[in-house]
Amino acid sequence: MTLSPDFVFTQNNLQDFEDCPRRFQLKYLLRMAWPAPISEPIEENDHLIRLGSLFHQMVHQYYLNVPEEKIASNITDEDLLTWWKAFLMQSPVDLPKNKRPEIEISMPFNNFRLAAKIDLLSVERDKKAVIVDWKTSHRPPRPAYITSRIQSLVYPYLVISTGSTLNYYRPFKPDQVTMIYWYPAFPDSPVVLTFSAEWMEKTINKLTRLVDEIVHLDLEVFPLTSDQKKCQFCRYRSLCDRGISAGHMDDMEEDDPEENSSLKIDFDEIEETPF
Ligand code: SF4
Repeated sequence: MTLSPDFVFTQNNLQDFEDCPRRFQLKYLLRMAWPAPISEPIEENDHLIRLGSLFHQMVHQYYLNVPEEKIASNITDEDLLTWWKAFLMQSPVDLPKNKRPEIEISMPFNNFRLAAKIDLLSVERDKKAVIVDWKTSHRPPRPAYITSRIQSLVYPYLVISTGSTLNYYRPFKPDQVTMIYWYPAFPDSPVVLTFSAEWMEKTINKLTRLVDEIVHLDLEVFPLTSDQKKCQFCRYRSLCDRGISAGHMDDMEEDDPEENSSLKIDFDEIEETPF
């Protein structure tokens, strides 16, 4: 199965491949629609996804300078109100002055494009950049887990390499970039990542290896994951004969229910870098 030359790699599809090559094939190559709940109880999971999406929209408006009272005027959900208050009181401070919420960045990578939509990028030109990701999880942060996710590679790699429009496309040094995962339900426990030249080299190697593996996988059916726990939270489980019922959301590995929502990057809107 050949990958289209205009295929765009993102943290989501690379993570899917790392979790299960068959899921990557079904989702992005065969574009197989397979309606099934991701986790149970469905209503509670949907509620969390909705809250996460609303929280992201509210924070986006905040950084577009919409007045706080206006943003909060229609909130009725107690959890969302608590998150919003936590954001106003305890979200990361001392961020560099030039801020852009929901910034989309892409660059050529290994004959394809690599892209990301970053919740907030904050830059002091040629000096430092801070990537902020809002994690609307109902579970406490797990630093080792979050550090191992492909998102923790792709976002900083793109910011370091391109500098983004906020730095006039001048790359940063790895140690000038920081990434903060901030959890409105756990405002005192952000996860902060820093980077180095060695990290950059390992990251390039890992992302290159993943893309090469995908490109050269010449199989009619890509391998199914051997970790069947992942199947409990995958919509294709009945298709793969890996069970019918969804797992309970409290047992989900994924920290952020929004990761599994239908939110998508609009690749037509992604900022092109001039190289
Ligand atoms: S059900 Fe399991 S094997 Fe099938 S695509 Fe999903 S994760 Fe992979």
